[in-house]
Amino acid sequence: MNHLTSTVTNSIRIGNGYDIHRLVVGRPLILGGVNISHELGLLGHSDADVLTHAIMDAMLGALSLGDIGHYFPPTDPQWAGADSLELLRQVHSLIRDRHWQIGNIDSVVVAERPKLKPHIPAMRDRLAAVLELPSDQIGIKATTNEKLDAVGQEAGIAAYAVVLLVSK
Ligand code: MG
Repeated sequence: MNHLTSTVTNSIRIGNGYDIHRLVVGRPLILGGVNISHELGLLGHSDADVLTHAIMDAMLGALSLGDIGHYFPPTDPQWAGADSLELLRQVHSLIRDRHWQIGNIDSVVVAERPKLKPHIPAMRDRLAAVLELPSDQIGIKATTNEKLDAVGQEAGIAAYAVVLLVSK
């Protein structure tokens, strides 16, 4: 490893995350820790907060620490119905224990319905509180899938995230 490479990899790291969960009746719709009123909710072992899961995977990926399935396996009953913000708090500790902090996060939620834009400020605030960051370091965008494919037909909601980590 040359000097330039080691300096850069010791000071900044980038990670990306993706997740998707099915939409079903009889489940709450929780995105970015915000409970959104809708006739369908996301199915999963935890609360199925697809946005928070994508962000956690991006944080872990930045440090090559694997994925959330490794830390919170869906086969483990202790994570049944888990509040994903609590899992996020744990992933954040893992990052901080290794002397890294979040530079910024950018994310996209892909959902045909409901309209998410009115809920984005609350999602940013919830995530910012857990991550102890100003909310302007957390980007959340919402888009539809133009009625195409499973997400466009409201069979599920997907989320993508990138995270920049900066060494402390
Ligand atoms: Mg998930």
